[in-house]
Amino acid sequence: MNSIAQACKSTTCPYCGVGCGVEARYEGASVSAIGGAKDHPANFGRLCVKGSALGETLGRDGRLLHPLVGGRRVSWETAIDEVAGGFLTTIREHGPGAVAFYLSGQLLTEDYYVANKLMKGFIGSGNVDTNSRLCMASAVVGYQRAFGADAVPCSYEDLELCDLLVLVGSNAAWTHPVLYQRMVAARQARPDLKVVVIDPRATASCDIADLHLALRPGSDGFLFNGLLKYLADGGYQDTAFVANHSEGVTAALQAVANCDLDNVLTATGLPRKDLLQFYSWFALTPRTISFYSQGVNQSATGSDKCNAIINCHLLTGRVGLPGAGPFSITGQPNAMGGREVGGLATQLASHMGFTPDNIDRVSRFWGSDNVARGPGLKAVDLFEAIAAGRIKAVWIMATNPVVSLPRSDRIREALKNCPLVVVSDCVARSDTLDCADILLPATPWGEKDGTVTNSERRISRQRALMPPAGEARPDWEILCDVARKMGFGDAFRFHSPRDVFVEHAALSGFENHGRRAFDISGLAGLTEAEYEALPPLQWPVNADHPQGTARLYADRRFHTGSGRACFVPVTASLPANPATVSHPLLLNTGRIRDQWHTMTRTGLVPRLLAHIEGPLLDMHPLDMAARSLEDGDLVRVESSQGSMVLPVRAVPGMNPGGVFAPMHWSDCFTGDGRVGKLIASNVDPFSGQPESKFAAVQVGAVPVAVWVLVFSERELPLEGFTYWHRVPVLGGCRYLLATAEAAAVERLQIELAREDGSAVLSFNDSQPGHNRYLVYRQDKLAAALFSSPSRFGLPDSDWVDALSRQTDAEHRWGLLSGKSLASDNRGRLICSCFEVGERQILAAIADGARDHQALGARLHCGTNCGSCIPELKQLLANPR
Ligand code: SF4
Repeated sequence: MNSIAQACKSTTCPYCGVGCGVEARYEGASVSAIGGAKDHPANFGRLCVKGSALGETLGRDGRLLHPLVGGRRVSWETAIDEVAGGFLTTIREHGPGAVAFYLSGQLLTEDYYVANKLMKGFIGSGNVDTNSRLCMASAVVGYQRAFGADAVPCSYEDLELCDLLVLVGSNAAWTHPVLYQRMVAARQARPDLKVVVIDPRATASCDIADLHLALRPGSDGFLFNGLLKYLADGGYQDTAFVANHSEGVTAALQAVANCDLDNVLTATGLPRKDLLQFYSWFALTPRTISFYSQGVNQSATGSDKCNAIINCHLLTGRVGLPGAGPFSITGQPNAMGGREVGGLATQLASHMGFTPDNIDRVSRFWGSDNVARGPGLKAVDLFEAIAAGRIKAVWIMATNPVVSLPRSDRIREALKNCPLVVVSDCVARSDTLDCADILLPATPWGEKDGTVTNSERRISRQRALMPPAGEARPDWEILCDVARKMGFGDAFRFHSPRDVFVEHAALSGFENHGRRAFDISGLAGLTEAEYEALPPLQWPVNADHPQGTARLYADRRFHTGSGRACFVPVTASLPANPATVSHPLLLNTGRIRDQWHTMTRTGLVPRLLAHIEGPLLDMHPLDMAARSLEDGDLVRVESSQGSMVLPVRAVPGMNPGGVFAPMHWSDCFTGDGRVGKLIASNVDPFSGQPESKFAAVQVGAVPVAVWVLVFSERELPLEGFTYWHRVPVLGGCRYLLATAEAAAVERLQIELAREDGSAVLSFNDSQPGHNRYLVYRQDKLAAALFSSPSRFGLPDSDWVDALSRQTDAEHRWGLLSGKSLASDNRGRLICSCFEVGERQILAAIADGARDHQALGARLHCGTNCGSCIPELKQLLANPR
């Protein structure tokens, strides 16, 4: 038995809105292992590869450890003085409308609550918005208009109880992997459960689809309006529910009067047979879940699309029942917590808007006579106001708007010109930090303590696993210090996250009387010990539901004035920026399997970059052929807003006429890969959510003379290269570079060998342009450079990573020859959990493995989180 004492601590994953429970195991004082919490109702022990790799992100590398003002290290006292003084001066000279907070779904609920209270309650401005605006603001509006509250009616268990699961605009296999695995398991247990995937692309989620509707991008509104008409015309409505528990059905049906089958077929481009199959399944299946996400929300008509979906559920009475309901899934770990406290500019606090009675109620609760009187600016407008000079001081917490917002070059410019930019973050480098006047070190996951709420309204504890590194502090505590310095000390005497939480819980119940969906007054009396031990609970948690509430609206009473659910008349339309002659392709953006947001955390873990290591533009082979492009070619993607350069990848599952680029890469990881530059600031008129899924673009080849693969112990200056991306690897970093200028490679070689004691080995191949260049210092490989006129003339990066740390002569020769050593070469990583590569999988298939279970038995691939199973099946079907 191990002599070192072991202990466990439960916490919650900080990545997506699934909100998986995590268990950290200790050896002594250090976290030794991370695993899924078996008793957490979101994941029952499962974690995806990002969650499994959390332990690899706990180091101090790259952390912001001290407050900085104007680039100079200062004490916390000085930093707080500067922030408070800067905000007070701005407010005195220009009024409270000249200041703003921009928050994040990464914050804990306690951080959100204090930020919202300070700005809306005491500074007196509504200018608090959050990056959740980019993710689910349209879903919020959809629920509010239909139910009178931003309240998700469903539970995860409904995904297992339904008989028809409709995934709309969601590649759950990659974006919400653990939920997807629950769907896979449910389908295996009940083969009658039907799955429909509605997405222009054939994504990994199609692996479980009985029907894939590859509709025209952005035509979902037509599809669901047509469904509403089909249901009404076919007599499929729940007459009693519509008559007794809803209102507005007549206007909603009038709005879809022209959505007959032919019109829907024209708008969506779907085959008639598939459309009728979907409509018929929906009509005949009482237990239907519509599971929708960013593909619906990130649209200039996202709110209407959400209501088009909800209308179909209202007409059939499928809300609040086991296995039935419209289920919006949030992207971020605590987008829901931000919605609860009022972190969106359109809300005041705790599910209360800016009505006079709510302003009065919140004023009395907070003891302030300076509560904001109206909504603040939503994210896109807020940054426009900064660009226009109307907002002169902004505090950005735990988010990276220079990468994530539309027109991201303009966001950078706006922040550079803003008189006061405060950024609190846990990392020392990001594209946004470059624009900051004051940097405040905040605690990250593993050091934070508080609560988060997942997509099924489940509040879970995120617990600190270790003490803060350096001088890092929790956001709520930093905010309290600034509030006190600004003269609001009495209202910010919180000594622990529990103090904040119980006040938040008390406000949720304050004069509520069942009128507001969000009510956790049952938790307002928690002691420190009870808060510490708080189990995961779904709100509402109150006197009527002390153990929480799995499903809302089972009683058919809604939070509207009449108590009835509201149909919303929807006129469907296509994306605001259609394809044109000069920009004939429609760009779609989104997440990939192993990365999260702008990679400030997942980008630290080499194995999470082994599946897809750099930005890629996915394109249909026919569109590539029309442009004479080959797989891996460098291309420039141009929209009316800007351009970016990245390699293209042939993907037969792409919709012809569409291209896809991930939203993760920033200037910290690549030369020109911020996809936000290409997106216009078209927003939904109700939610303010930007249309990030659609940009009309042109794609053209970028000439490359030399491709270069470099391993280096240190980061490198890269002038003269048209393209680069960087991958952290053990002992340094690896780059893929491309240039039209051969002299850039020579300059880089000089740079690699510039340090004293460098010994250089170089080799020019008989094939022109194929060169290898090694730099050793103290008999250790310090750098290796391989160049070739073709990207495919470079050695495998996996091989370079494996050998770069070797010192013996054989490996030197191997490196210099640039030859792959087959025994070390596993190829592109497919299974990140067990680090199994494509070549290993193909070899097992050649050796007789016939299905993914057989591959799992031999190589373990696909046996942990399961995210790679769709790719295993693709390789089995097409073992190249
Ligand atoms: Fe974290 Fe993955 Fe669970 Fe999402 S699905 S919460 S990223 S472990």
